[in-house]
Amino acid sequence: MSLTQLDKPVQFLKGVGPRRAEAFQRMGILCARDLLYHAPRRYDDASTITPLARVEVGMDVTAVGTVKSKGIVPTRSGLRIFQAVLQDETGIVTCAWPGQPWLDRTLQPGDRILVTGPVKFFHGRQLQPREHTVLARAATPTPDDQATSATHISISSTPTTVPTPSGTIFVTYPASEDLPQWIFRRVISLNLEWLLRHVRDEDHLTPATRRALGLPDLADALSTLHRPPSLDRVDAAKRRLAYDELFYLQLLQARVRYHDTRERPGIAFQRTNDFIRVLHDSLPFTLTGAQVRVLREIYADMSSPHRMNRMLQGDVGCGKTLVALFAMLLAVEGGYQAALMAPTEILAEQHAARIREFLAGLPCGVEILVGSATGRRREEARARVAGGEARVVIGTHALIQEGVEFDALGLVVIDEQHRFGVRQRLALAERDPAPDVLVMSATPIPRSLAMALHGDLDISTIDELPAGRRPVVTRLAGPDRREEVFREVARRLDRGEQAYVVYPVIEESEKAQLRAAETEYERLRGDEFAGREVALLHGRMPADEKDRIMGEFLAGGIQVLVATTVIEVGIDVEGATVMVIENAERFGLSQLHQLRGRVGRGDRGGLCVVIPGGAGEGGGGAATRERLEVFARTNDGFEIAAADLRIRGQGDFFGAEQHGHGTGLKFADILVHGDLVGPARERARGIVDADPELAREENALIRLVLERRYGERLKLFGVG
Ligand code: ADP
Ligand code: MG
Repeated sequence: MSLTQLDKPVQFLKGVGPRRAEAFQRMGILCARDLLYHAPRRYDDASTITPLARVEVGMDVTAVGTVKSKGIVPTRSGLRIFQAVLQDETGIVTCAWPGQPWLDRTLQPGDRILVTGPVKFFHGRQLQPREHTVLARAATPTPDDQATSATHISISSTPTTVPTPSGTIFVTYPASEDLPQWIFRRVISLNLEWLLRHVRDEDHLTPATRRALGLPDLADALSTLHRPPSLDRVDAAKRRLAYDELFYLQLLQARVRYHDTRERPGIAFQRTNDFIRVLHDSLPFTLTGAQVRVLREIYADMSSPHRMNRMLQGDVGCGKTLVALFAMLLAVEGGYQAALMAPTEILAEQHAARIREFLAGLPCGVEILVGSATGRRREEARARVAGGEARVVIGTHALIQEGVEFDALGLVVIDEQHRFGVRQRLALAERDPAPDVLVMSATPIPRSLAMALHGDLDISTIDELPAGRRPVVTRLAGPDRREEVFREVARRLDRGEQAYVVYPVIEESEKAQLRAAETEYERLRGDEFAGREVALLHGRMPADEKDRIMGEFLAGGIQVLVATTVIEVGIDVEGATVMVIENAERFGLSQLHQLRGRVGRGDRGGLCVVIPGGAGEGGGGAATRERLEVFARTNDGFEIAAADLRIRGQGDFFGAEQHGHGTGLKFADILVHGDLVGPARERARGIVDADPELAREENALIRLVLERRYGERLKLFGVG
């Protein structure tokens, strides 16, 4: 297969010698294919480029012209100004770069440049570029240009003139200091035709599938990417490339899923008694429509012979835990045990207390296994688990430690999954027989995003809160109103309520002028909250110390908890009704929402006040303001996640949320191409389910491209 042509190192491309090859490598462009997928960062055409004759004082323009003459103009004040006269078919204009005399060495007459900047009046019209890009060089070729070690390249004529941009559209590539724009444009011009000819063979979509998805063919898309016949074609080209990325990502994930859920048989749970009905009938409320829907999805999975590997997501307080309990009861009815794994002991205990209450009327043993239990107590608990007396087992990661034996573990529910490594989840899956797995995530994200990130899991989403919930009231207060805010908190304390005060960092530092938990704890204790029970909680404390303080807060012995984000995880303190978040600009939107969820639990109505830092603390920006306003405006976790994604951009969003391995998406933008995730996933799963090793002839191409383009990620996903 001629696919290998595109794997040739960049050095063998026309216009690239050994020296330039190194510069390309530094930008991550190693082979011919990488160059082909090096996407322009901007496009300009007649709609954005102003002909020089039409450039007027007061405008902010983008223009393209050839340098006609140039020089350095000294001024009386000693400032040296580099000036160049630009010319296009319509006229000329002077460009000036005050204080940048060195440009005299880099720009030469005959160079074609693209400039963007304001037009001022100074002896006539003067464009002062903020940004300029050399599109093409007038200079004679450098040794690298002549080095045609690439004998296999069959382009017959080396253009003697610099390549001109296609039509009137100007394409600007991400470039680097040692690989300027004009070199990119030149190298791409020299090789594009050849590259496109070979990439034709890599198209894994049949014309019928392409038509169904409304996508262009691969060569067409890549051609448009570099040489758009018109700007409106660029989006369609990117859409095709986005689909490919999503498809191959889903393919990798589908293989993980196959390994986790299809390779070995799972348990087909069956109802044998009426635990589920008894619990259902004893509830003092009715399940929401969304709870019923996701339970059906979960039950369908559990009663099938495949292993379940499913994520249950929904906003804080939507009733995920109860859904999980119903799932556990199906396992129990089927004669198996169910385990619930929580990230901290205190959460495990809270879950255990609730679940014992729910199951009070049922002959179903509930056991708790946590790290702090030792000696005889631990041995007895373990014995009840191993002997099968305990049907529902709740704990921390102590659950999956050495020495813990189950009688017949059928289902594992993992709470707040992002706290647990993927490896821990897999450790569970390696047991024999492998239990079904349900992971609960309290960070709800839009469905397309969830599918892109967790293609290896099936996803159930609860998108509805029980009726009658009082939303947390959120207020945005300027730093100048801090005193007033704390006075209000104090009034609530007088009424017997409890409060959290959250800070972004533990200690003060010289670098960032942020309010720090330790310092503010001392201050609040002596000042605003003098005479009250105030405690400090942060991540650097030993686990048992943290648990002790949290327990005391839960019991009401502590009135004000000064903390960092350690409280983010789903602990519920009913008496806690108010939260103040300082330097709120420091937190991600989803993180703020998680924090706020902590005061929405009781029925007294929660209040959350966010205080951004002052201007000196970096809290004054417009983007900060926008984020915090979104946060104050809506209580909907899905909406918040979407806004977070929109404001921060995909790269930052994925990075900060630490969703395991990065997705590495370059073309696919979930907000734009979200509708492609579902089809990509369906197709990928269909292919893998039918041919898990991609060994069939019809999948040979997909397998090759997967290895060639995504080899590194194959390793990451642990399947080869
Ligand atoms: P999550 O785990 O999603 O944050 P929980 O399962 O802890 O939410 O539920 C929050 C509270 O709401 C619990 O007290 C639970 O008993 C209650 N709850 C669950 N489902 C419903 C429902 N359908 N109607 C009313 N209350 C519910
Ligand atoms: Mg929860």
